[in-house]
Amino acid sequence: MLKNRNLINADDFTTEETLEILNLAQDIIKSPESFSDLCNGKILGTLFFEPSTRTRLSFESAIHRLGGDCIGFTESKSSSAAKGESLADTIRTVSNYVDVIAMRHPNEGSATLASDYAEVPLINAGDGGHQHPTQTLTDLLTILETKDTLENLTIGFCGDLKFGRTVHSLTKAMSKYPNNKFIFISPEELQIPRYIKMQLEAKGVEFKEVEKLQEVIDKLDILYMTRVQRERFFNEADYIRLKDSYILDNKKLKNAKKDLAILHPLPRVNEISTEVDSDPRALYFKQVKYGVFVRMALILKLLGVR
Ligand code: ASP
Repeated sequence: MLKNRNLINADDFTTEETLEILNLAQDIIKSPESFSDLCNGKILGTLFFEPSTRTRLSFESAIHRLGGDCIGFTESKSSSAAKGESLADTIRTVSNYVDVIAMRHPNEGSATLASDYAEVPLINAGDGGHQHPTQTLTDLLTILETKDTLENLTIGFCGDLKFGRTVHSLTKAMSKYPNNKFIFISPEELQIPRYIKMQLEAKGVEFKEVEKLQEVIDKLDILYMTRVQRERFFNEADYIRLKDSYILDNKKLKNAKKDLAILHPLPRVNEISTEVDSDPRALYFKQVKYGVFVRMALILKLLGVR
């Protein structure tokens, strides 16, 4: 039962529960009109203390497509947080106005804190460099739709693996399925955090770390490119030095598998050349589309409508 649950971490739901959401999203893809009034009278709160394009707008699109409504704010400046109100008090207040909350916040752990005070289901829409579980649902749906499985895959994560919360969440989620292998491709300074490697080791999941994409590109079933997370750097000079560490172009894709799936949570800055966009293996704009369907499915499950 997913009714009234929170989604804070990518592994909060069992693989069966996750599959329920993904299967419901697949039903919605087939016949979106049959879901168009299931959330009549329901309100989603979108509390965004940090910038967003896709996550916020796809949540808002999702609730509207289900016949519900949406209220919220797009930056902390326009909420009472700017007057010094605590996150706990904001969440307690908003719980009176809405049936479900999607919140993005720059602090790691803020979603867990908020869930202690929320009286309605709370969805983590990104907490600092920590987790982004609804991007993970989007990524899982994209993988399932293209590969028809979530198992036996070699997944390469490339770019800023230190601060990239979508990488942390997807690694957590994909490590639950049998025989997936991970290749982490990053400069030394942007390596995947130690705690994630320790979790993989504890589960006996196979992984390796490399610096050069070219060394491993032919082995990958999925290439998950990421942006260097400028807003998490303490020092602009380090960002400038590292920002163009990887730029995927057609030349680099020469040795890749014919059925490679290229994913990116977006926004893209420089790390994928636009010439790659017309390659049928480039799935990042498909991901954007799936993001709405999977968030529709998640809302329906948390509200207990389906
Ligand atoms: N949109 C994703 C996130 O919010 C990825 C990114 O910003 O690079 O984490």
